[in-house]
Amino acid sequence: MAANVMPCPSCGVKNRVPAVSSGKPTCAKCHGELPWLVDATDADFAQVVDTSRLVLVDLWAPWCGPCRMVAPILEKLAHDFAGSLKVVKVNVDGSPATSQRFDASSIPMLVFLRDGAVVDTIVGAQPEHVLRSSVEQLISRG
Ligand SMILES: [Zn+2]
Repeated sequence: MAANVMPCPSCGVKNRVPAVSSGKPTCAKCHGELPWLVDATDADFAQVVDTSRLVLVDLWAPWCGPCRMVAPILEKLAHDFAGSLKVVKVNVDGSPATSQRFDASSIPMLVFLRDGAVVDTIVGAQPEHVLRSSVEQLISRG
């Protein structure tokens, strides 16, 4: 199963964060909540977005310049909202079914999911404060 290595925001220890987990990833050392930022493909997308957290799907591609501007913002948001947000990156070139499902004809495209249902969609590279306030609003709506 795919896993990303993520430093703990509380103590800095590097942890392996699984793409799929029934619970919440926590730090092996201090048990704090870890940022959850993972890659998914058509094969495991359904499993990866099956979480009680707010899910932010990043539909991107390696050739997409604006996608590269959004990537570090999403890493920051995953860090700042550890415990309530899961960021799922999908390379549309390798995942045609997921790309089609969200009609990702223009990327970067960010799709927010709550319990598998789309609750918001943002198309195009937006500045950090726009993305941050969207995440804050959706999390507070619960
Ligand atoms: Zn820790």
